[in-house]
Amino acid sequence: MFDSNYYRMKFKGLVIWMMAGVTCNLYSQNIDSLISKMTLAEKVGQMAQVDLGVLWEGETCNPKDGKVKLNEDKLRKAITEYKIGSVLNCGCGTGTHSKEEWRQWIGEIQAVAQRSGVLPILYGIDAIHGATYLQHSTLFPQQLGQAATWNPDLVQMGAAVTAYETRASGIPWNFSPVLDVARQPLWSRFFETYGSDPYLCKTMGVAAVQGYQNFSKEIVGTPFNGTQTSGAISSYNVAACLKHFMGYSAPFSGKDRTPAYFTERDLRDVFLPSFEAAIKAGAKSIMVNSGEISGIPVHTSYRLLTEVLRNEIGFTGVVVTDWEDIYKLHANHRVAKDYREAVKMSIMAGIDMSMIPNDFQFIDILISLVKDGEIPESRIDQSVRRILQMKKELGLFVAPMGLPSTQFSDAFSARFKQNALETALQSITLLNNEGILPLKSGTKAVVCGPAAHNLSLISGAWTHSWLGRDEALAKNYGLGKTVADACSEFGQGISWLFPEKQNPMSLKSLQVSKSLTKDVKKSDVVVICLGEEPGTEIPGNTESLELDGAQRDYVMKIAAMGKKIVLVCFFNRPLIITDLDSVVQAVVYAYLPSDFGPEALAKTLVGINNPSGKLPFTYPRSSGSVVQHDRKHTEDFHVDFSTNAYRPLYDFGYGLSYTQFSHSPLTLNGEFKGVNDTVWAEWTVTNTGKIDGYEVAQLYFRDEFASITPSVMHLTGFKKVWIPAGKSAVIRLPIIPKMLSFVAEDLKRTTEAGDFSFWTNNPAIQRKKMNTTFKF
Ligand code: BGC
Repeated sequence: MFDSNYYRMKFKGLVIWMMAGVTCNLYSQNIDSLISKMTLAEKVGQMAQVDLGVLWEGETCNPKDGKVKLNEDKLRKAITEYKIGSVLNCGCGTGTHSKEEWRQWIGEIQAVAQRSGVLPILYGIDAIHGATYLQHSTLFPQQLGQAATWNPDLVQMGAAVTAYETRASGIPWNFSPVLDVARQPLWSRFFETYGSDPYLCKTMGVAAVQGYQNFSKEIVGTPFNGTQTSGAISSYNVAACLKHFMGYSAPFSGKDRTPAYFTERDLRDVFLPSFEAAIKAGAKSIMVNSGEISGIPVHTSYRLLTEVLRNEIGFTGVVVTDWEDIYKLHANHRVAKDYREAVKMSIMAGIDMSMIPNDFQFIDILISLVKDGEIPESRIDQSVRRILQMKKELGLFVAPMGLPSTQFSDAFSARFKQNALETALQSITLLNNEGILPLKSGTKAVVCGPAAHNLSLISGAWTHSWLGRDEALAKNYGLGKTVADACSEFGQGISWLFPEKQNPMSLKSLQVSKSLTKDVKKSDVVVICLGEEPGTEIPGNTESLELDGAQRDYVMKIAAMGKKIVLVCFFNRPLIITDLDSVVQAVVYAYLPSDFGPEALAKTLVGINNPSGKLPFTYPRSSGSVVQHDRKHTEDFHVDFSTNAYRPLYDFGYGLSYTQFSHSPLTLNGEFKGVNDTVWAEWTVTNTGKIDGYEVAQLYFRDEFASITPSVMHLTGFKKVWIPAGKSAVIRLPIIPKMLSFVAEDLKRTTEAGDFSFWTNNPAIQRKKMNTTFKF
């Protein structure tokens, strides 16, 4: 039985929490006094995180008989003996479980902790675009699709819904959002980002952190009943974890966890702002980049993890490693001669918690490093203080399981799902339309291609399992609606033909069948749904940005039949479709929209939804020509010495609508005299077409001459507005000197005196002068 006297004696002045899962008042909320009473083993245990698979019967990535059952001896070893502070994931991301199962396992874990006199365990999970590993959770488009909405309110709402459902399963910590700026389209995690622009990533990142961590009654519609003391997170919210700090998203080779090469100036210019803004918005934790930057694995970088993150930005939360990354400093990066040296390096660099995740060696090693005087105990106390502070802010010392399950009646509700649908609708990006969309009533349309009858291809990785490749899981625990299903249900007025229905095509066995040929001949339009095998991290690596030959041939064969084609792309990254683009009459970029993507697509095809998504990245024309929108002027030089080299297939911020918008010339009101002066950018957007719709008003600038080569353009503001046909909206966006800054040679954010050019969706340039140079 649980001995309450143990705690009473050990943590004097504390009241003991009763049974895991039952709200109880508890530990002194004074972290320092708590730490002063902990043994070294208890403290080091707090810094250790293991995977759920370490605690269940069977192998770590493979539960016995395929059923998850926690094993008493394993629980005792991890919790009673090693006193671990955190558990994550579900056995290498191997499945999806009910809310009740999650609560049962986490309840068992907390009960063992309680009985063993170990502080409540912090459970962490990857709830990436909704609660990944929770059956029937509300699944949103992957982050890239969310960014394509250019609507931070939707991103915030999605995060709030995800937080609510994650908390419903007893889990208070989410390893999301990804704030890596996607500068390498080959990278397998491109779809997990908010795209390639630092300003867009930063804006969406702040929105996500607010949704995850802050009370948002309007969004989840549930009365708040947590304690709103400073820094506290309600029982309907989760602690966010910004990842992967930093520079992870631009591996030179394009392969996951391989070297990136840039200077600290580049890092600060492109990759730091999203993290910095989200930290300032209160993010509680960050996860570290598994890769290296110019020869230095980030897990060993005192410079980045302590000097920049702590001393400069002032981050006070928890820094967790990524998967097995301390060990990999020895095994893969080979900067440590053994595991012991790796532990020492990373802890001294600033790591608070090790995602070990499959054994306990980290704990033994760290204890011995402290005992041998190689790591001061004060360094351990520093990390434990941060971890306990986060546990306290999450209310774990009061109620380790949070609120009872019955308090989450909105989980999986129609209202939540409506939010996911709205996000999918606003993400759909129309890249090409030669007057074919929306389909006219009475059209005979074939729907075909590998993604037409497949659920995994439209959702991608982190959907019901790590790699998201299990079609049965998607069918049983997701919405189960394919593009073909949704066309039948929502594509009113069209005669749909689904010749492949009886024989769902896989990417590998793709061919134009006889029945497809027959139906194509009968049809007016063919909607071809292409996909890419779900994948992330190393299993998602690719050799090339080229679309595979089978899908290309498939489209070309159908095009040769002379029918009009709508190409729909469900890709992990921008695969090259340049040749296809010229033989089809419309291109719809759908990203990985997940459960509500099919409905959103069907409604877009028939014109119930007017598409409003805009590309959050630059779509390359060819795989050897990866140039960002915020490129340098020299990148514009062409073989003929003209400055027309930047010719992406589709530009950053691009996306068509079924209506037309005109943007008046920009006016700039105000002067930049002092650092706090605001110049207001103002212009009018008019819907000159016949259909109501959303427009994304975009504001760009460039510094004409600067001490570090200036970019051709930077996004510095945007606003999504709904404008009825024939009506106008006035856009008013603030510009302050800091928004025009760059990182100078001295590594300081600087806005240099000189001329600045501004423009909007309307390319006419307005000039403004900055009279003084400011350092920030
Ligand atoms: C990924 C992280 C993820 C972690 C925990 C790692 O392999 O890189 O993004 O949060 O696993 O599942």
